[in-house]
Amino acid sequence: MTAFDLNEHPHRRFNPLTREWVLVSPHRTQRPWQGQMEKTSLESVPAYDPSCYMCPGNRRATGAQNPAYTGTFVFDNDYPALLPETPTGTVEQGGLLRAEPERGLCRVVCFSPRHDLTMSTMPIGELRRVVDLWTEQYCQLSALAFIHHVQIFENRGAMMGASNPHPHCQIWATASLPNEPGKETAAQADYSHAHGSCLLCDYLALERELGKRIITANDHFVALVPFWAVWPFEALVTGGRHTTGLDELSGDERDGLADILKRLTARYDRCFEVPFPYSMGFHQRPANRLEHKGWHLHAHFYPPLLRSATVRKFMVGFEMLGTPQRDITPEMAAARLRELPEAT
Ligand SMILES: [Zn+2]
Ligand SMILES: [Zn+2]
Ligand SMILES: [Zn+2]
Repeated sequence: MTAFDLNEHPHRRFNPLTREWVLVSPHRTQRPWQGQMEKTSLESVPAYDPSCYMCPGNRRATGAQNPAYTGTFVFDNDYPALLPETPTGTVEQGGLLRAEPERGLCRVVCFSPRHDLTMSTMPIGELRRVVDLWTEQYCQLSALAFIHHVQIFENRGAMMGASNPHPHCQIWATASLPNEPGKETAAQADYSHAHGSCLLCDYLALERELGKRIITANDHFVALVPFWAVWPFEALVTGGRHTTGLDELSGDERDGLADILKRLTARYDRCFEVPFPYSMGFHQRPANRLEHKGWHLHAHFYPPLLRSATVRKFMVGFEMLGTPQRDITPEMAAARLRELPEAT
């Protein structure tokens, strides 16, 4: 009987942040692909697009006109998924049909007046100003009495449903704690009670010791493929110092965050020589004015591409009905990303 080997044998890995499992099937990586191929868009993107609702000076569908901004620009989403005012009340029938009103705010943050730039191609100083704006928005929205969570996220690329290439992200601030941060809040609190330490501080120490899954790092931040990654080239970005939110970062650390985001996204773009699509977002302590000592600021990157610019991973079948599954191991993905150049 051969010994259990993570590089060879089917196994499942535990995600301590969500307390869910992922199935890993490393023996399948040589299997031929006969599935769907995505089209790659090679159209060049102009620096200014007169039909873009985010470019400076342009008019949006609601008639509002963007200022001739030169740095970052934030505005309330013209078609928000959430509204600040809703009627009160609940729906409850037999304990099975339950609904509650949800209040919130949705904003759009343009990273740059340039329609053609991305996190990977923006100058580092400009990316730092985006980090400053995220921090400002987190503080401003967290201070609203009815807000309990602030979700900053970016969908990049048509494959992720982003129809407009203008570099931007969204911020949804909600009255209730969404599912994913809800699971992570409970798991981090339980871990910190049980161990007297922080889950992600301890995890990062372990990953630094092993070095196998680290993609890139600077003095303040590390980008790695987590041991429990579901998406082929999934990454976790987190700081070496324990901070619970963007508002606790020092000026140097904000520079460090801008730097790591640029390094990681530049490697992504080189992975298949194509602008790498992904959904990314920050997880930070809930905005409920309670102390969340065990909460550790981090960002998740979830890119869908699997083996080329045209072959993506689908979450179907067993993954929808059972458990998410991957073939290429997180260690293989980290090694592949680590080998790529990141200089622009
Ligand atoms: Zn634009
Ligand atoms: Zn920590
Ligand atoms: Zn998280």
